[in-house]
Amino acid sequence: MRKAEEWTTLLSIGTGGGTIELKGAERKDGGWDFRLRTDEPSKGVAYQTSGGGKEDGLHLLSHIAWLSLYPLYVNPVIANAVEKRVLHHKYRNESSFMAWLEACYPEAEQKAALLANWLLTAERTVFFTGAGMSTESNLPDFRSKEGWWRRIDPRTVATPDALNDDYPLFKDFYAARMKSLEAAVPHAGYHVISSWESRGMVQAVATQNVDGLHRKAGSRNVYELHGRLQAVRCSRCDEQASEQDFRRGIPCQICGGKLRPGVVLFGEILPEKDWDDALAAVQQSDLIITIGTSLEVYPANQIPLMSSGRSVYINSEYSGAAADFDLVLEGRAGEILQQVDRLLKSVKK
Ligand code: NAD
Repeated sequence: MRKAEEWTTLLSIGTGGGTIELKGAERKDGGWDFRLRTDEPSKGVAYQTSGGGKEDGLHLLSHIAWLSLYPLYVNPVIANAVEKRVLHHKYRNESSFMAWLEACYPEAEQKAALLANWLLTAERTVFFTGAGMSTESNLPDFRSKEGWWRRIDPRTVATPDALNDDYPLFKDFYAARMKSLEAAVPHAGYHVISSWESRGMVQAVATQNVDGLHRKAGSRNVYELHGRLQAVRCSRCDEQASEQDFRRGIPCQICGGKLRPGVVLFGEILPEKDWDDALAAVQQSDLIITIGTSLEVYPANQIPLMSSGRSVYINSEYSGAAADFDLVLEGRAGEILQQVDRLLKSVKK
């Protein structure tokens, strides 16, 4: 028989009217003994002798829906095992979930942990990305402090009018963007998304970006709603041409027409197949994660609204657009994705 002081409280849970206490004591052989005291008269005290580790004590709780109750204390000794269950559990009761998150994670990690839980419990997850996804790969976006719009207004250049009436300006704008792509490599956040896709946690990526970085990072199911910068073609006969010819200002070798990048200009129709496939993926999703977009460009900005599931918005600057989402994480895309990935790895099954 153990003395009272030999038992350490591992987990204490509030039931509303009372508490459930899981205690543990390490044996000389390295195994653990556990003791569970519950409010249920028939199961008032349960004991378990375990040859295994300290985490095995949680088996004593298997007959109780303890994650729907409220944590009072989580001993750091058992915290990782508890976190694993918290992140993998499909919660019906949001308030008990928040209580477990608060008990297990520092404040700065709680939103990332919430997102990790949603990712682990979602059936179908879709990402929707914008130019802010690529700023950490040193490609400027359009609207934030460092964006292209501070230098030049894309609405005056990224248009069929500019292509027809001011070709030198049009060509120089896109040639500069192509040049900046030469040295661009996908940052770690891109690789996080592609690794989640290969683990079956992500079904598709719909992007407004024209830089091709999602594919470069290994994502396979990518819908490029605004086309791809480097897919140069003739604006008259549609024949494919090389990026080099476009950047040198050489006309189409077939018909002499002006070459143009394979992007959707303001006022043009989106590529039908990518749009339809993206829409279908979003409509079937129960989690959509929108990253680095000001949601100002129509119709792509309708994408997050097409999912009936949970919605997440990740952006480095807070804006009114955030109000439409269930969860908002303010910060840099790459950093947040890596933070969530670290949490997922820490509780890997
Ligand atoms: P946008 O410039 O309107 O908005 C970018 C958003 O990303 C802003 O809200 C900004 O706060 C946020 N942001 C910036 N850096 C971030 C970071 N590190 N982490 C998280 N958020 C960050 O871009 P948009 O909404 O995508 O729409 C503009 C159009 O620009 C799109 O049609 C797109 O085709 C085009 N565009 C593409 C690229 C690219 O392919 N890399 C670059 C510039 C513009």
